[in-house]
Amino acid sequence: MSDKSYLDWPFFEPRHAALEQTLDSWASQHISQQHEPDVDQACRTLVRQLGAAGWLAHAIAGSEYGGAGATIDTRAICLIRETLARHNGLADFAFAMQGLGSGAICLHGSVAQRAAYLPRVARGEAIAAFALSEPQAGSDVAAMQCAAVRDGDEYVLDGEKTWISNGGIADFYVVFARTGEQPGARGISAFIVDADTPGFEIAERIEVIAPHPLARLRFNGCRIPASQRIGEAGQGFKVAMATLDVFRTSVAAAALGFARRALDEAMQRATERQMFGQMLADFQLTQAKLAQMATGIDAAALLTYRAAWQRDQGRIVTKEAAMAKLTATETAQQVIDAALQMFGGLGVVSEQPVERLYREIRALRIYEGASEVQQLIIARELLRAAKNKDM
Ligand SMILES: Cc1cc2nc3c(=O)[nH]c(=O)nc-3n(C[C@H](O)[C@H](O)[C@H](O)COP(=O)(O)OP(=O)(O)OC[C@H]3O[C@@H](n4cnc5c(N)ncnc54)[C@H](O)[C@@H]3O)c2cc1C
Repeated sequence: MSDKSYLDWPFFEPRHAALEQTLDSWASQHISQQHEPDVDQACRTLVRQLGAAGWLAHAIAGSEYGGAGATIDTRAICLIRETLARHNGLADFAFAMQGLGSGAICLHGSVAQRAAYLPRVARGEAIAAFALSEPQAGSDVAAMQCAAVRDGDEYVLDGEKTWISNGGIADFYVVFARTGEQPGARGISAFIVDADTPGFEIAERIEVIAPHPLARLRFNGCRIPASQRIGEAGQGFKVAMATLDVFRTSVAAAALGFARRALDEAMQRATERQMFGQMLADFQLTQAKLAQMATGIDAAALLTYRAAWQRDQGRIVTKEAAMAKLTATETAQQVIDAALQMFGGLGVVSEQPVERLYREIRALRIYEGASEVQQLIIARELLRAAKNKDM
């Protein structure tokens, strides 16, 4: 059983601890620990369950659209992701994608767009996706080529997107495409594309080490009404970055959930496994590992909830969110690897909890900005602050 003393930290309000406790007990009763063979079906079911139980209300903003509050509560999102990740990685994924996929609509959508999409997202009746990356534009987002050309009251989309989570099961996609107002990042706009729009297709389903719905998308003369554009033309990059800014800290929280689960598993194994006439936990080498794991988790949690709390205070958290994501994902990878090592051969048996965690954590160090990108963001913010001080 995880140590929950972090819920007493000053970053939280009493409602946060209550939220975590209710979700933890709900997840114990309703979320299966097993991975279902049909990942699409499992994901659809999880989205419906999370919606029906009211958890998805926290993934969107605006009570008039079914949201839990007027604005996004970053600490609530983080606690939900951390708790779900501790129970089941796919449940965390299902929750996170409803938020990431509809985040641009929450933050910059028109009233009509919010009314049309957000209530269904909150109820788990419409599955959302966020389509930014392309084969030649991953870390370098501004290199995107997918184009949207204005034609009267419509836009015509041509190009590809790849690595799109929920690709193949989503009901709508928030798609970023080049509209060409200015070169580079300033010539991109955001659009909502319904999955049944002619000219849109799933070009390829992609299998990854921790299975979840993922696809390459193709747009071929795909016509959408101009009213499906989110925000101003040419502001798409800002829309994408604002959405990622909300959810980047929550990736750190998901990594924390995986790490806490790995520490729980390691503690249990170390106190049950006998060898050389004593328990695995009796060896100082094991104790050093456990100490390092627990310390790493607390350090990552402090950075994560600092960033979440700061964001909820209305402050800019570019550097803090990057520090949290970098530290939590890298630490979780080390914690999970150490836990797996303690299980010996059992650690690499398919579908053992530590084996699953080992596969589940890996992509978090890559998506929503790889660790190297987070390092660059932190350094850029440091250097910018130093320069401003000198002036
Ligand atoms: C499981 C999964 C789910 C995803 N879901 C989505 C989604 O829903 N929507 C979406 O739009 N995208 C999604 N992505 C895409 C993800 O955001 C990209 O994979 C990521 O941005 C990296 O882009 P890339 O894969 O093209 O790698 P590249 O850009 O080719 O980078 C490769 C590696 O280069 C290194 N690197 C990057 N920049 C630098 C630098 N400046 N200096 C030194 N090294 C550097 C990093 O180690 C990086 O991992 C997902 C990816 C995965 C793996």
